[in-house]
Amino acid sequence: MAELDRPGGSPAVPSDWTYAPAPESRDVVHLRDRYGLFIGGEWLEPSETYETISPATEEPLAVIGQASVADVDRAVVAARTAFADGWSSLPGSERAKYLFRIARILQERAREFAVLESLNGGKPIKESRDVDLPLAAAHFFYYAGWADKLEYAFPNRRPRPVGVAGQIIPWNFPLLMLAWKIAPALACGNTVVLKPAETTPLTALLFCDVLRQAELPAGVVNIVTGDGRTGAALVEHDGVDKIAFTGSTDVGKAIQRRLAGSGKKLTLELGGKAANIVFDDCALDQAVEGIVNGIYFNQGHVCCAGSRLLAQESIYEPLVEKLKRRLETLRVGDPLDKNTDVGAINSAMQLEKIRELVESGREEGAEIYQPPCRLPEKGYWFAPTVFTNVAQSYRIAQEEIFGPVLSVLTFRTPEEAIEKANNSPYGLSAGVWTEKGSRILWMAQRLRAGVVWANTFNRFDPSSPFGGYKESGFGREGGLHGLEPYLRFDE
Ligand code: NAP
Ligand code: MG
Repeated sequence: MAELDRPGGSPAVPSDWTYAPAPESRDVVHLRDRYGLFIGGEWLEPSETYETISPATEEPLAVIGQASVADVDRAVVAARTAFADGWSSLPGSERAKYLFRIARILQERAREFAVLESLNGGKPIKESRDVDLPLAAAHFFYYAGWADKLEYAFPNRRPRPVGVAGQIIPWNFPLLMLAWKIAPALACGNTVVLKPAETTPLTALLFCDVLRQAELPAGVVNIVTGDGRTGAALVEHDGVDKIAFTGSTDVGKAIQRRLAGSGKKLTLELGGKAANIVFDDCALDQAVEGIVNGIYFNQGHVCCAGSRLLAQESIYEPLVEKLKRRLETLRVGDPLDKNTDVGAINSAMQLEKIRELVESGREEGAEIYQPPCRLPEKGYWFAPTVFTNVAQSYRIAQEEIFGPVLSVLTFRTPEEAIEKANNSPYGLSAGVWTEKGSRILWMAQRLRAGVVWANTFNRFDPSSPFGGYKESGFGREGGLHGLEPYLRFDE
């Protein structure tokens, strides 16, 4: 490195320094050519199939079953049988043993799951390795701890399981959303039929292997893959006692309409358009990191993403300047490369949606900034994007983009920040950056959002409840609150 030293001065950093490729090996994953439906502890042949791909390369990965109405019926019957045949009456301490086992096996097989998650979903390996997998295991550990303490969690209310839970999850955190759904359901003594998203079924199918390893009784968890039709069949099925859905607001509303008056329990975790509010007294460099993590984490495919930056006018210019400089250092590319910060967009359809909304931002008059970056030729990619000069009425300030696109707005007073932050049909999350503790509390009381982060963003913990206000849905997942949707009470 001697040639890098300036005589008598600090070392010069060559301007063309780049990272050498550091791909994670795929060898740890053993993909089958085709997967059936996991029903009653067996792999059943589906009548229809489709192909799942890697969004980073468009490479076909495996043939997946498209579960029909009859297949969903089989899965619900298997879940009902397992419920009646002992799972629901098993002592909580026995159910906990299975959950602890699942948690430990997920930890043991974390690398295999992380690689598969990145391969099928497009997210950077450092995120699936350091966020998705540890949190998924943590959810099973956490709810294992509650399984024998339900009487203490709800004293004098005689908590009992609901029955068969139908669970429908999206493609942005495939294994983590599975864990959010399955762990509390089993801890409370329910059985499950789960439908993963069409584009990301592989880690849910690998999870079936974990269930067998943990010797979970057959039929307690059933996995039916397929598209929205499979989800609709699950919603419609009379044998399902509870539906838990995470996904778009449109589908969530349709499900709510369908279930009105049916007596089925329902929780909805829908979209968001979170405000990340930065005051001029905050630690600016930390805020920049938080803003970047808030919107470019997981390509912005995050319901609680900080997609609206509200910057106090007095620091607007230095903040945007720092943010643009930071964007230039983000590495976009191969999800399996350990240095990648921003991976592939999950599907061609999602890429189309992002492009369309970004185009509307340009047309409505916002100013676009994208750092210079070379995007791979194959696969689905979108450069990290910042829009400035955004009016509140623009579509990019109102609609969920679900991509790596940030809209910057400004405010002068805390009151104005609250008004702008709450000016949204959504209410899932928000962020506040300030050195003043009293201001954090003042803001948190007024923000109509289920989660408010202070001087951080996108932090999750199984003990902390998560869920929305307004069109972001209802019901809570995580924490003690996350048990309630899976219980009935004699009152
Ligand atoms: P989506 O259609 O709502 O998908 C969520 C889940 O519901 C998937 O498993 C989906 O299957 C299933 N589904 C679709 N139609 C259904 C129906 N009629 N009945 C029951 N289940 C149904 O969301 P998407 O199409 O993947 O994404 C669209 C937009 O939703 C995104 O651009 C984003 O804005 C938002 N989104 C939000 C979240 C979140 O975490 N809140 C997550 C993902 C997406 P398929 O996979 O086959 O569609
Ligand atoms: Mg869909």
